[in-house]
Amino acid sequence: MSFESLGLAPALLRALAEQGYAEPTPVQAGSIPLVLEGHDLLAAAQTGTGKTAAFALPLLQKLSGAGPTMTRRPRALVLTPTRELAAQIHDNLRDYGKHLRVSATTIFGGVGMGPQINVLRRGVDVVIATPGRLIDHMQQRTLDLSGVETLVLDEADRMLDMGFLPALKRILGAVPKQRQTLLFSATFAPEIKALAMQFMRAPREVSVTPPNSVATLVSHHVHPVDAANKRELLLHVLSQDSRRQTLVFSRTKHGADKLVKYLEVSGLRAAAIHGNKSQNARTKALADFKSSRITVLVATDIAARGIDIDQLPMVINFDLPMVAEDYVHRIGRTGRAGSEGKAVSLVSHDESGLLRDIRKLLKDEIAIDNVPGFEPSTPLRLDAGAPRPKQGQRQPRPPQRQNTGGQRQGGAHRPHGHASSSGGGEHAAGNRKRHRRPRPAAKA
Ligand code: AMP
Repeated sequence: MSFESLGLAPALLRALAEQGYAEPTPVQAGSIPLVLEGHDLLAAAQTGTGKTAAFALPLLQKLSGAGPTMTRRPRALVLTPTRELAAQIHDNLRDYGKHLRVSATTIFGGVGMGPQINVLRRGVDVVIATPGRLIDHMQQRTLDLSGVETLVLDEADRMLDMGFLPALKRILGAVPKQRQTLLFSATFAPEIKALAMQFMRAPREVSVTPPNSVATLVSHHVHPVDAANKRELLLHVLSQDSRRQTLVFSRTKHGADKLVKYLEVSGLRAAAIHGNKSQNARTKALADFKSSRITVLVATDIAARGIDIDQLPMVINFDLPMVAEDYVHRIGRTGRAGSEGKAVSLVSHDESGLLRDIRKLLKDEIAIDNVPGFEPSTPLRLDAGAPRPKQGQRQPRPPQRQNTGGQRQGGAHRPHGHASSSGGGEHAAGNRKRHRRPRPAAKA
């Protein structure tokens, strides 16, 4: 399968060759022809599968056909749950569209409205936005969505998790009914399908099913440790290979800041990324991490969502997530694009119950090994009465719904699986119970 055979224009093929992309990923191969044909699309794919190009390439092709926008009205709207994801999509559109005359801009909170208004006034083809700030512009009448021909909802399941449904509904009311809608979601849980059915027209489906061998791509390690010794153990693990780019997860924003201070005092180059940081600080931290100016990025779950960092060799859970499913999101940051990844969790006795949930979810034995010198005074408990930490920033969610998205099954995430497309039938690779209820609205 080649990009040529998907019907892409020479200017795009040139840009792809310059990016070094040899062939389409499964979600690209499945989606691009359907989007070019004008179908609505429901695609099950998460970050790391090449999904951005799956919508960006055909979108650019369609927009380039008619020449640059002469009016103020954007012709395409891409909605994402986080600012980082919006910025990444913008970067990708720039890369793929470098030989075309298609303009794009991002609209998200945390930065001034003024420059955004100026860009919108001058006229732009594609707006990539987070829902909250988009609504601000709609209210101030600084953005007219009546010319939108293509609407993309990226990470639709995350948007619902983050409480964006009311905003989505308002935005859907402001774009024309006659349009093409592309929805990308890691899962096709019932509420995603219900949402899709409300505003899509006969959507085609594309899903990327990971092969069963996924677990070999990411190795999972649990190191039991007393809570008081976690920071030292983290330092020990990091010192095993100090050149490795490592993403460290902290359950709380305050904990992330404290950890960065500790690592810096210990001589490591680190930065934190979480919702209390200014947009500038977050952008800088991510850029510094990508360019290896810092080697450790400490993140909270929401801030890390959707971040694309190429081939991250290691993810460390300084704290286990309160919801087992978030473990899968976290380790989805490693072992990408066929490269091997390592997921290390530092687990204290009070987190035993969380570890138990994760092991159950992964249906997979995670190696639990003591690190000499860091053996805990109280061993982990993996029986039914295993303790859990007191609820902090995030609340555990009760079992509530059945999820039919098979993509994350098996405990590891593999970016390029098999794609299948259909006219709308059931596509899931398996059933898995998810433990969640809607998260409070959050601006990541
Ligand atoms: P995404 O799922 O859109 O976040 O993409 C994940 C990563 O895969 C990004 O770094 C892309 O640049 C890269 N990528 C996307 N498509 C291809 C492709 N066909 N070949 C190689 N890399 C790709």
